[in-house]
Amino acid sequence: MMERLTRLIRQLPIKWKLMLGATTLMFLLFATYNFSQYLVLKQWMMNQEKDKIQVSMAQLQDFLNEKSNTMDTLLITEARPYIEKMIGKNQLVRIIGKNGEPLLTVSNHFDENWVTPRTVEAPELFDTTHQEDHILIYRSPFITTKYVGTLEFASNLETFDHFSHTLFWVMLIGGVLAVFISAISGLAIARQLMRPIRALAATIRSVKEKGLTERVSNIENGDEISSLAQLFNELMNQLEVSFRQQKQFVEDASHELRTPITILEGHLSLLNRWGKSDPEVLDESLQASLQETRRLKGIVEELLTLTRVETHLDSEINEPIQIEPVIQETLKRFEVLNPEFLFQVNTEKMRDALVSISPLHLEQILLIILDNAVKYTMQDRRIVIVGQRLINEVQITIEDHGIGIPQDELPYVFDRFYRVDKARNREIAGSGLGLSIAKQFVYKYQGEINIRSKENEGTTVIIKLPINQIMK
Ligand code: ATP
Ligand code: MG
Repeated sequence: MMERLTRLIRQLPIKWKLMLGATTLMFLLFATYNFSQYLVLKQWMMNQEKDKIQVSMAQLQDFLNEKSNTMDTLLITEARPYIEKMIGKNQLVRIIGKNGEPLLTVSNHFDENWVTPRTVEAPELFDTTHQEDHILIYRSPFITTKYVGTLEFASNLETFDHFSHTLFWVMLIGGVLAVFISAISGLAIARQLMRPIRALAATIRSVKEKGLTERVSNIENGDEISSLAQLFNELMNQLEVSFRQQKQFVEDASHELRTPITILEGHLSLLNRWGKSDPEVLDESLQASLQETRRLKGIVEELLTLTRVETHLDSEINEPIQIEPVIQETLKRFEVLNPEFLFQVNTEKMRDALVSISPLHLEQILLIILDNAVKYTMQDRRIVIVGQRLINEVQITIEDHGIGIPQDELPYVFDRFYRVDKARNREIAGSGLGLSIAKQFVYKYQGEINIRSKENEGTTVIIKLPINQIMK
């Protein structure tokens, strides 16, 4: 039974849980508070009534003591006017003789038969009920020289009862109202709280059904739940972008791979048809096929490098190294391969800067850029390399005086497979992946790469890498 109830509560929507919790808490608080307040008040009022009756008793005893020398059975009637004066509404006063016989009874709105006269040895004070009525009785032995008996006071606690009843009802109704109000407001608050969550859930559902373009709409700024929705939207944006990029990449890659494969296929069928008998065709087609195969291999290798940098497969932490010797070394080897070029190198100023980078990656970046500088230069074969130390970074600039890049194409040269003006580039081999690989590497090391160029004047590539520390 209990188990079933807890399971039922656990399955309730959060809205109802919150409401139920608030209401129960409110009920418990109100019930304990009101009940104890009621008890304390009632006790206090009862004590007041008892005090009053004790004071009256003391006054009467004083009066009788004063008169005691004259008092006897007959003269006891003398006390009547005094008692009539002091008695309150709903009260009874009795003077009782030694054998329990009432000598004098005075009452005010009080039925004598409700209390039977009785003598006592010691004072007694208690409350009893008579049918509907609540009666407080105080009896006290009273002894003077001529008289031995009991004084009896009774008081009908009508007003007291009436008051405590009213109090009880006021508190009960107040409590019920409070619980009711807290239930309603708890429900309202819960509904308010749940609205963004429900919107979020609805969006997630529609993402599942309709795809990545769905977003949570009208987020009210403010609380944690709406920032959760915000976060979800941002996550979806990122997902959508990277999804689109991935798709673009696959499309570009398969397109780029198709060209050399088509050429290969053409040469192979040429060979198949004529090559067996014609040694000239055989030679030419074999040469061309080999070249295309090499190109294919190059593209595949570059693609592999690119994905490897992107997925951070080799993301080990690098020791800070002096990069100046690495640059010198790379340049020396590159110079040997391109003897017709003039290299002007000035890297003095960055000699004492240490950068956390893998020397192999740095070399790869430099080779990609130097390769471009050489590839896209026709006449002025000067290449200027300058290394500088800025405040928190080193800057390497590589400047050529080649054909340059048109202004409106500059933003795209870092895109994969992007090549400026395919017609112009037809004679120059390349897959358009070099700069995007260089960019990935530089970004991996929290650096920056920029390109400045003017058509027919030259191109400058600027690389910035954060300095790890400076040699003493
Ligand atoms: P890959 O480097 O993959 O063999 P690629 O050189 O064509 O091929 P990127 O290095 O990415 O590819 O360069 C993209 C394009 O930017 C080049 O095709 C070229 O048009 C232009 N470009 C890059 N560097 C220079 C440069 N120094 N001078 C003129 N144009 C350049
Ligand atoms: Mg290149």
